[in-house]
Amino acid sequence: MIIQRVVLNSRPGKNGVPVAENFRLEQSTIADTVQAGQVRVKTLYLSVDPYMRCRMNEDTGSDYLRPWQLSEVADGGGVGVVEESKHDNFSKGDFVTSFTWPWQTVAILDGSLLQKLVPQLVNGRLSYFLGAAGITGLTALLGIREKGHVAAGANQTMVVSGAAGACGSLAGQIGRLEGCSRVVGIAGTDEKCSILVQEMGFDAAINYKKGDVAKQLRELCPGGVDVYFDNVGGDISDTVISQMNQNSHIILCGQISQYNKDVPYPPPLPPDIEKIQKERNITRERFLVLNYMDKQEASVLQLCQWIQEGKLKVRETVVEGLANIGAAFQSMMSGGNIGKQIVSVSK
Ligand code: NAP
Repeated sequence: MIIQRVVLNSRPGKNGVPVAENFRLEQSTIADTVQAGQVRVKTLYLSVDPYMRCRMNEDTGSDYLRPWQLSEVADGGGVGVVEESKHDNFSKGDFVTSFTWPWQTVAILDGSLLQKLVPQLVNGRLSYFLGAAGITGLTALLGIREKGHVAAGANQTMVVSGAAGACGSLAGQIGRLEGCSRVVGIAGTDEKCSILVQEMGFDAAINYKKGDVAKQLRELCPGGVDVYFDNVGGDISDTVISQMNQNSHIILCGQISQYNKDVPYPPPLPPDIEKIQKERNITRERFLVLNYMDKQEASVLQLCQWIQEGKLKVRETVVEGLANIGAAFQSMMSGGNIGKQIVSVSK
């Protein structure tokens, strides 16, 4: 059977900015028959995520991420529909997902890599299983619950960087649902800031590309910062940490501002900021959502319940067509997305 697939065409280099041309669309073939234990799936949605930048390097710098090889099909989170099954758990027409879905239109996968989906949980919005009801939502929820020390009634102020992105836009809302009394976002455009406040219930948002972030933060968080959901690292995080309270907490979710640089993860703080962190007893522990998969099922149900109740507002930036996945990745890495970046493959 003839299929389309996307392979890694070239590496951006450890300190390079990724571009669409780092990926290549090509025609390929898969077997016409499905073996015992296998399932043939048609791809519907693919997830595009910042961690993929590390997979473009020869060495990802982490023991849980495998680098993509040149001319090898790329992979990541995906959702699709079963076309043919020789695995007991799946039947034709089932919707399924996997963390290691190949970037191709149709694939034959080992059934053990797939999880069955219940579309009703997300009001039929299947792509949500890659975002708000998938690994992104889990990251926001479990990051807050495991590292945020949020307590209802404690009058805590939360700041979120990368706030209009996939994780950040959910993290601010979940911070509020879990009990924070004030939530302030930091994002890269006025449009993003306006969505955060008007649509997602943030109390305020700062466009870090305009004006003095430290000054705005002081005005918007007069009682200091108690919880910082950090997606970006670098200068923005140094500014936030400088305004954090004694015994406060950083949720070290990601450091996207450093991903095109050859630095260790997590990048060390500059000495003056590290001094503040230590003196004020601010926790900054590494957080990796994959370490909490025993909480996946209950947490996804919680996220779906909030979505159905309208308590969690979801934004997606959907790009049509497998051929555009490289461009979608490039755009997301430079701030072109609002909410979760998804590629729709079916059309
Ligand atoms: P995302 O935020 O949807 O997309 C990236 C956003 O980051 C862009 O839209 C851009 O928005 C912002 N950005 C890019 N370069 C920046 C820079 N130099 N400085 C400041 N902001 C920058 O991505 P996501 O999927 O939600 O991931 C967010 C973070 O969580 C990433 O660091 C990712 O690696 C991490 N993550 C961690 C885990 C975990 O288990 N710990 C799991 C999933 C994701 P602006 O317009 O605002 O600049």
